[in-house]
Amino acid sequence: MIQINNEEKRAKKRIFVGLLAGSLLLLVLIVFFAWCLVSWQVFFLNKIVLTVIIAAAIIFFILMSVGILGLIWSLWRSKELVPLQTFMHTATSFLFPIALRIGKFLGMSEEKIKNSYIQVSNQLVRTKTKLKAYKKVMVLAPHCLQWIHCPHKITIDVYNCKRCGHCPISDLIALSEEKAVNLEVVTGGTLARKAIKEKRPQAVVAIACERDLTSGIQDVVGFPVIGVVNERPEGPCANTRVNLDKVKEAIEFFQQGIAEEIMS
Ligand code: SF4
Repeated sequence: MIQINNEEKRAKKRIFVGLLAGSLLLLVLIVFFAWCLVSWQVFFLNKIVLTVIIAAAIIFFILMSVGILGLIWSLWRSKELVPLQTFMHTATSFLFPIALRIGKFLGMSEEKIKNSYIQVSNQLVRTKTKLKAYKKVMVLAPHCLQWIHCPHKITIDVYNCKRCGHCPISDLIALSEEKAVNLEVVTGGTLARKAIKEKRPQAVVAIACERDLTSGIQDVVGFPVIGVVNERPEGPCANTRVNLDKVKEAIEFFQQGIAEEIMS
């Protein structure tokens, strides 16, 4: 079962990395086309200006390639590549919209591509934060996990929940108490950022849909966030669910360095 899950995760990551490489190839083709225009002098453009643009594009392409190769190496070896972090983040952020368009053009769903991006991001965070001791971990949960007819205002204070068990909030509270982490239920990205700013956690386990997780992760580049995609049996934004084992595993991952610290 674990082997199947690992295979699935690998396949998911391959989608995003493949699309990134495809985006880069597309850029190369554009540069090549521009170069052809210069060589054949099809247009009456200033040759020097165009040559400078092409040179800049080639340098950019090299830096992006370094970023993607660093990303592939880091994912493959599960090791952090500190000197290439900036290139890896820049390549991912810059090429992501292009990768998304190529993926859609190839008939892939936006959800699937974003899910792949989240898997890639999660592994990079895990590689980077392995065995570090995070004492202040926050779980950020979306409001849509709450039962739609529940009258209690858990976004103001999650402990307003009466723990009736009708939705996953009661289990998340129990888990956060067991693991001594802060739990916040938020209604969107702005409030999620506000919660992080106010509570100042060292690491975050964020539960959300692919769209919100992708934008949230991109907003806090460099900050340790493990994303857990929610389940939507009744469609988006209402009575959503979450796999508690995945949340628990992510919390334990961030906290494992504490045990190592105590033992050493
Ligand atoms: S578990 Fe809490 S939030 Fe969910 S329905 Fe019951 S009281 Fe409301």
